[in-house]
Amino acid sequence: MLSPLKIILGLVLGPIAKTRLSRSHNAQARDSLSESIVLSLSPINEKIIEADLNLYPDATVIADMSGNILGCNKLCLHLFKCKSMDDILGRPITNFMSESEYSKIIKFLEEKDGEVRGVEVLLSDISGHKFPAEISAGLIRDSEGESLGIILVVRDATERKRLIESLIQEKKMFDVLMDSIPDAIYFKDANSRFIKINRPKALRMGLKSPDEAVGKTDFDFYHEDFAREAYEDEQRIMRTGEPLIGKVEEVKSRDGRVRWVSATKIPIMDENGRVVGLVGISRDITDLKLMEKKLEHAYMELKERVEELQRIQRELERSNRELENYTYVVSHDLKAPLRAIRSFISFLLEDYGDKLEGEGLEYLKRIDAAAARMNEFIEDLLLLSRVGRKFMEVERVDLNELLDEIIQDLKPIIESKRARVIVGKLPVLYIQRVWIKQLFMNLIDNGLKFNKSEVPTVEVSCEETPSEYIFRVRDNGIGIREEHLGRLFNLFERLHSGEEYEGTGAGLAICKKIVEGWGGRIWAESVLGKGSTFSFTIPKKYGSMGDVKGNG
Ligand code: ADP
Repeated sequence: MLSPLKIILGLVLGPIAKTRLSRSHNAQARDSLSESIVLSLSPINEKIIEADLNLYPDATVIADMSGNILGCNKLCLHLFKCKSMDDILGRPITNFMSESEYSKIIKFLEEKDGEVRGVEVLLSDISGHKFPAEISAGLIRDSEGESLGIILVVRDATERKRLIESLIQEKKMFDVLMDSIPDAIYFKDANSRFIKINRPKALRMGLKSPDEAVGKTDFDFYHEDFAREAYEDEQRIMRTGEPLIGKVEEVKSRDGRVRWVSATKIPIMDENGRVVGLVGISRDITDLKLMEKKLEHAYMELKERVEELQRIQRELERSNRELENYTYVVSHDLKAPLRAIRSFISFLLEDYGDKLEGEGLEYLKRIDAAAARMNEFIEDLLLLSRVGRKFMEVERVDLNELLDEIIQDLKPIIESKRARVIVGKLPVLYIQRVWIKQLFMNLIDNGLKFNKSEVPTVEVSCEETPSEYIFRVRDNGIGIREEHLGRLFNLFERLHSGEEYEGTGAGLAICKKIVEGWGGRIWAESVLGKGSTFSFTIPKKYGSMGDVKGNG
């Protein structure tokens, strides 16, 4: 028959202890009993020595019914930080735990038929340092069932408590993270049933608390079509282990509301690599989708407008070309009869000049002057209509050399007015030579013509930006009123009388057409009485990779 102690220890310590106890029955084992068991109180000495407490996997203490410690193992010494058995044996157990905690254990033992497990208590080691522990205890009874003492098996719960606390902390952090992310996050089991969802997901589903979703499926909350598609996706993900990333879905609620989400679903595996569920993240992109739709709409409208504009532009270009051709043909055809008129006038003057009265001769001379002026207009019109015709190839033009040539051509006016033309460093361009010459010629000629300074001076310079050349033709001439600057470039626009300054008013219109034909801009700045600056740009594509040469 087993002794009561054996029964109790068996209950408390489980199978290992049982084996050890039965072994301790034989005489050999008895001889080798640990020194740690001190036999101080006689009634249960016999029982105690049966137990080789050192064989037990946990700290173990035996006390008498008054709570005095009779024996313990080495693990117990270690747990209470005692140096030797003298530190612990014979002392009341309440040196290591509060009286109330000890009373609690005794009460449990009485209530639960002499055996309790896993009572959480706070213990103190020998230096008074407190630590949490878990105690299982049993009453030691004699053969008559009289309680002789108590055996207590103590487990240090510090590490377990720390682990639990850190788990609780981590769970708290996880919950805060889940609920503060605006995306809907959910975990589902292998049958696509919700295990856990975050608050934003609960809100979207119209739930008061995330717990309300647990155990339910998408079919409980969404339109059947959507729920079925989601279910099929999820079952495939869990079957194949392949995640679904950023699938754009149209989510239909049961009440018919529609939202757009970008859904990502990732399978969750257990430690054996078996898929046990999935985690889903769904980002609401309804606003983005609406914006996208608006943009698409705006884009279509814009496209239509652009096409309409392109059509108008093509139409304009065509009618401009027609107009240019018409101007060209008309001005060209006008030249022949005009030439005939002028020839007949000169015949009249030569052959009948002496027969005409004074007034008649004067009229004839005026007709001749008017015809000459008409010829000038026709020439300018011809020139203007030629600018638009693309019959001229680009060629290498060193502007420094070109400007020398222009200065030579303008020599008569330069010398007659004792003027100066100063030219800065200019680039080499690949461009229509005739038009660039015409452009500079018109501007420099104007600078000299509309100039009453003692030494009329025209300066030509060039500045380079990453995308274009900016040319400037500056004079110290009579200047232009600010209010007139806007209409300078209109065809046949003249600000000064023909008696004072020669010209047709077509020069700047020709300049504008040339510059714009290359994709550039032209404009004027002026201070009345001080001088004017005419600036124009030419895109860099006409340049020769920063080839700026000077003529000194
Ligand atoms: P034109 O020189 O044949 O008169 P433009 O088209 O070259 O025609 O010039 C138009 C008008 O602009 C000129 O009649 C003149 O009144 C004014 N203008 C042009 N260049 C200058 C300048 N450098 N200084 C002052 N006025 C100018």
